[in-house]
Amino acid sequence: MHMKWLYKLIEWFRRVMYGRYGSDQLSVALLIFYIIVVLFAQFLRMPALLIVGYAILIISFFRMLSKNISARRKENELFLKVYRPVKSFFKTRIIRFKQRKQYRFFRCPTCKTTVRVPKLGKKISITCPHCGNKFTKKA
Ligand SMILES: [Zn+2]
Repeated sequence: MHMKWLYKLIEWFRRVMYGRYGSDQLSVALLIFYIIVVLFAQFLRMPALLIVGYAILIISFFRMLSKNISARRKENELFLKVYRPVKSFFKTRIIRFKQRKQYRFFRCPTCKTTVRVPKLGKKISITCPHCGNKFTKKA
């Protein structure tokens, strides 16, 4: 099979993207946000929302095609500063939910570290692995 056109397309794309910023987490997040906004616009029959959606799409493409790499990198770092804690918050909630039948989770009253203990159905003394504080909970 002749895939010459594909190589030509890749080559063309590489030439277009040369010296440009390209994709990052913020651009991907903006694309996902664009899809959500457009779906909402369709669902709620609000054409004004479509304009917002296209604005988001344009921003995302502008960022990918931008030659001001340091500015785009700074934007992405700012985005990650917000996004990473949010992501880890939900990740730990999902893990706790999956383990809810085998384990219980408690916060150390002193250092606020989360401690995982096996579910026993009785009161137990817990020693915090982080600060060594002892507290009693029904596990
Ligand atoms: Zn502690």
